[in-house]
Amino acid sequence: MARLTFYGGINEIGGNKILLEEEGHNLLLDFGFPYKRHKQFYEEYLKPRSGAGLLDPLIMRLLPPLEGIYRDDLMPPELWQQFWEEPLYRELDRIDGVLLSHAHLDHSGYISFLKEEIPVFSTATTAFITKAMQDSGRAGFDQQVCYFSPTTQDCPTGWKQTALISTNVRKQRQFCIAEPALQTLSDDALQFWTQGFWEKTPRQRTEFYPCQLDSHEKCVFSLRCFPVDHSIPGACAWGIETGSGWIIYSGDLRLHGKRSELTNRFIEEATDLHPRALVLEGTNIRRETNVTEQEVYENALRAITGSAGLLIADFSPRDIDRLLTFLQIAKDTGRKLAVLPRDAYLLKTLRLLDAEIPEIKREDSLVIYQETTASKSPPVWMRRIYEECEGKIVLADDVSSAQEQFILCFSFFDLNELPSIRPAPGSLYVYSSSEPHDEEQEIDFRRLHEWLKHFSFKGFGLPVETNGQWEVPENEKGLHASGHACGTDLVQIARTIKPQVLIPVHSEHPEDYTERLSDSGIEVILPAIGKSIEV
Ligand SMILES: [Zn+2]
Repeated sequence: MARLTFYGGINEIGGNKILLEEEGHNLLLDFGFPYKRHKQFYEEYLKPRSGAGLLDPLIMRLLPPLEGIYRDDLMPPELWQQFWEEPLYRELDRIDGVLLSHAHLDHSGYISFLKEEIPVFSTATTAFITKAMQDSGRAGFDQQVCYFSPTTQDCPTGWKQTALISTNVRKQRQFCIAEPALQTLSDDALQFWTQGFWEKTPRQRTEFYPCQLDSHEKCVFSLRCFPVDHSIPGACAWGIETGSGWIIYSGDLRLHGKRSELTNRFIEEATDLHPRALVLEGTNIRRETNVTEQEVYENALRAITGSAGLLIADFSPRDIDRLLTFLQIAKDTGRKLAVLPRDAYLLKTLRLLDAEIPEIKREDSLVIYQETTASKSPPVWMRRIYEECEGKIVLADDVSSAQEQFILCFSFFDLNELPSIRPAPGSLYVYSSSEPHDEEQEIDFRRLHEWLKHFSFKGFGLPVETNGQWEVPENEKGLHASGHACGTDLVQIARTIKPQVLIPVHSEHPEDYTERLSDSGIEVILPAIGKSIEV
């Protein structure tokens, strides 16, 4: 009999970590970064100590105490003795793989801590995004998903304290690509995977496997990978065949996005499997309607048309659909969309797998904004992007002197560029993302409002605070299409697939499923942290 144990994603949005066991074989369904719990203890200047390796995340219960699954090099001496008495402590002698649903860190981040020999099963797009994010950012030791730097135990010169010190070596994880599209990967794509866009020689090569996952030598389970639509490209749901029947894991999904046909096909194919269990996300279970990307386009275009001065569009840069929406608006309004180098890096990466992603060099309406730097040698990846896109680089002065010609893709964290740009009074800040979810984000929103006041910006679609509640004003709604299906759609998905058992995850209100499916013949089981469910 198969057994599911939940170590994250319970009564919280994200941090999914699910263990599936059957007859000595084990799979992990996602292994995400637990933002909510992490923020209870940590902030920008108070972080888990990388020199202490696994100790901090284990003691603070950010990671489950499962001996045998984590990297040996992150283990301080006598680590596990401290956890033997913990109720959740277990020893696992093997993990056959992680089934990764998509590249959002709340699903992928803590893969960083797993033993390097554990393969990660994902779509090619998800694998490439994890690499692009790491290549173009500074992933901390707890977010090194695609590759990591092993540590050695050493004593800093003149210190008595030994610590885990990061080496210059880089090890790439083994990703197993679950798509037929793999056979058509170009040489450029393969080269990116081994060398990035700048390295002269390949790093450790990563293996690719054929799409026939059920004949996969690395995994005893028969697996099915179902591409679905979400607010990041490459998302998928998974099916695992067990002795108890098929277990389906939804990852994050929606039915109102540009690729709804993917989610619909998943529902159809999952239904045909007559699954024993469906582990279904429930982020928006309390929302009854969706905003579509087309509505975002129409509403944003209406807000922007006729506006003078500078335009800033604030949205998640990994939401490529949204980026393309604003690229279209830039064309419609005769402006140029200016993206940051890391967004350009991601676009260049995704183009290796999808020819419909615009090529920056040939797209007249796309330019790259060069940030002010204090370093004489910016990172190599960034220099390569600038070199390659010569003639497409704009500086603060260029934007400042022709403000009505640009839409800047900035988020709150890029606003420190504004003193160089000096936006004209009455410039427009279009907010196209979600409302604040916690106190920290609320504080950032207060700061954002101060920035806008200081530079006399008009805001559109920005949540405002009234009596402690943050909400977008009624006449400015409809500027964000969520990555998650609304309650009506989620219940419809469950009723159509009709598993014998439904287990809600990734939700602050999993109990809503119990009531909403009470007449469906589906048994809803609410998971609890560390508790096993036999299916
Ligand atoms: Zn997600």
